[in-house]
Amino acid sequence: MLNTVASFDRIGEENAFAVLARATELANSGRDIINLGIGQPDFRTPDHIVEAAIKALRDGHHCYTPATGIQPLREAVAADIHKRLSVDVDPGLVLIVPGGKVTMFMAILMFGEPGAEILYPDPGFPIYRSMIEFTGARPVPVPIREENGFAFSAEETLSLITPQTRLLILNSPANPTGGVTPKEEIDKLVEGLARFPDVAIMSDEIYGQMTYDGLEHRTLLAYPELRDRLILLDGWSKTYAMTGWRMGYSVWPQKLYDYARKLAVNSFSCVNASAQYAGLAALEGPQDAVREMVAEFDRRRSVVVNGLNGLPGISCRTPKGAFYAFPNIKDTGWQAKPLASALLEEAGIAVIGGPDFGVHGEGYIRVSYANSTENITRAIERMGEFLTAKAA
Ligand code: PLP
Repeated sequence: MLNTVASFDRIGEENAFAVLARATELANSGRDIINLGIGQPDFRTPDHIVEAAIKALRDGHHCYTPATGIQPLREAVAADIHKRLSVDVDPGLVLIVPGGKVTMFMAILMFGEPGAEILYPDPGFPIYRSMIEFTGARPVPVPIREENGFAFSAEETLSLITPQTRLLILNSPANPTGGVTPKEEIDKLVEGLARFPDVAIMSDEIYGQMTYDGLEHRTLLAYPELRDRLILLDGWSKTYAMTGWRMGYSVWPQKLYDYARKLAVNSFSCVNASAQYAGLAALEGPQDAVREMVAEFDRRRSVVVNGLNGLPGISCRTPKGAFYAFPNIKDTGWQAKPLASALLEEAGIAVIGGPDFGVHGEGYIRVSYANSTENITRAIERMGEFLTAKAA
């Protein structure tokens, strides 16, 4: 008998990967599957970024780098944050990590243990809860409500803080809802957090460059009073269509930086050297591809929202960020997961059931618009036919 520690019975995962696997299996068997389950841009990484990685390999960057990342990249991250968000970050507090997920893994490991409580958005990225449970801490969901435009509520969040609360996880623009929390609400939260100086904050801003309707991303880095307890999670995956490169970064408070660095040394040593040069080219090179991608997502956003709102029993708010719509399906008479499963098996459309993002996701499905307008249009037609046939 192999006696693994009990915490491994509690670790979860992301169902989106299982849906992707099933969708691929069905497609390989000859079915026409339209994948709106996917959580990654359907664009190629821009050429100049790919070329920078190839050049790095040709130039002989084949070795370990410092565990914290190559210095020019850490400086480029700080410069990029300054340029985009008008805040100063010390490059010495930037850590280059293999993907956005690694920052949440580290932050939750630092603050989670039995007896501790960690607040996280629900519906939200499923790994938050999985990792909290893994550490033995109590996961405390912060409900993300449709009637609140899928923004988090400062008042409700603050009301859930107890003396046991160690870490508060925030995510705006958000997965799976596309919600963006307005600046005023974030101001209110930060003001309230002054009463809880021992609570650390991890702000997942991986979709920070994907906002629409002229809405500006409000970073938590903009609040100097939080900087000694704020962990920023960001990375290249979504902004530069680089999910497979595994490139992320975090900005840590001075007090925590060395712990994070040691976690890096103890696990991955450093991020793939050539990928780091690609990341550097991404930040320092032209940003046109990013703007074009976001403009294309914006166009598809209207196609998705208008299309979904025309379907029987479905109503869909206009998402303000990321590339997901989170339609309300309560009037279809279906539960979300059976609907997602039937849409895949019977109509050939992959979407993710809301409960895969937490209990407050029941009654919703996540529809990603990281697919062509043509495919989105076909998928919505098929969904309409499916729902009408089932209702008959
Ligand atoms: N945070 C959120 C909210 C996400 O949606 C994702 C990916 O889907 C991540 C973090 C992880 O990003 P990465 O693929 O860079 O690990």
